[in-house]
Amino acid sequence: MTKDKPITQLNTDRFSRNISYLRVSVTDRCNLRCFYCVPEEGLPFLGHKDVLSYEEITAIVQAGVRHGIQKVRITGGEPLVRKGIEELVASISALPEIKDLAMTTNGVRLASMAHDLKKAGLHRVNVSLDSMKPEVFEKITGRNHCQEVKEGIEAALDAGLTPVKINVVAVAGVNDSEFADFAKLTMDKPVSVRFIEYMPIGKNMHWAEDRSISSREIREIIEKQLGPMTPVTEHGPLDGPARRFSLPGAQGEIGFINAISGHFCSTCNRLRLTADGKVRPCLFSDKEIDVRSVLRSGGGPSDLDAVFAQAIAQKPRGLDSAKSEKPGCDRSMSSIGG
Ligand code: SAM
Repeated sequence: MTKDKPITQLNTDRFSRNISYLRVSVTDRCNLRCFYCVPEEGLPFLGHKDVLSYEEITAIVQAGVRHGIQKVRITGGEPLVRKGIEELVASISALPEIKDLAMTTNGVRLASMAHDLKKAGLHRVNVSLDSMKPEVFEKITGRNHCQEVKEGIEAALDAGLTPVKINVVAVAGVNDSEFADFAKLTMDKPVSVRFIEYMPIGKNMHWAEDRSISSREIREIIEKQLGPMTPVTEHGPLDGPARRFSLPGAQGEIGFINAISGHFCSTCNRLRLTADGKVRPCLFSDKEIDVRSVLRSGGGPSDLDAVFAQAIAQKPRGLDSAKSEKPGCDRSMSSIGG
């Protein structure tokens, strides 16, 4: 006789999703000023004491691990501007339950850090790059660092931080003329170029709906110039929400993240930890649980466990397409951790 399966596991939420992925923001600071991420008037930065220390982050990740977290992404703000980030990478990568340790970075400082990050135990990186033209890059980010980011991508490939994914936020009238050039990068390099739909995140942001381009439209633009793409059907342990395709003979892949046109709440397996120590069950809900005050008021492992249990229990079903609910939230991506 086979044993009955337990009805609930520690990391299964009310909607039968297994929560196994924690995105950890290590800072709200960034060395770029992308117009869709940081409001024009800037953001008040957190004080040094408001930001979780590496020891605190590690203790929280350990509690996550006890609740089934197996994948961690270090993000920000810009994670590579936080001093000693390799130290945090090393302590998380030392946890045997963590099967996938990734980082999302703007790549500006990556060229000189890629090998040390690999040595510290980082598995892979996603590099954000919305334009390969220095003047357009500067228009989007407010800074002239396009060349550094390109060098960062090369260094990541060289260091073996693979698969290297390049995240392109698609914005009509800004970078749509470069979609095919981005797709062509996959011909000669084993990179995964992922087009992300521009989302209305952050209450003070100038969200321009007419600047949003759906994944379907992006795909049409690429196929018009480069011919049909083939869906990638094999699944890997690192699969995320992207729908994946490839060009004939390409070394890499092209992915589409339909954050707006086809949100993926029903399969969402994520929790987020903000730099100021809030656990956020859903990007599109402003509900947060204050884990920093639990820690700083003397809380131990069982108190941290209770925070994860609460976050998993409170994870909302997500957006309801039947009611045409749209994604969005009050805090900007740079303060939540993208
Ligand atoms: N600084 C790092 C970077 O640039 O990758 C990590 C943080 S950043 C907030 C993470 C990702 O969120 C980037 O790929 C960025 O382009 C994306 N992002 C930020 N605001 C967004 C928005 N409104 N819509 C879609 N993507 C957004």
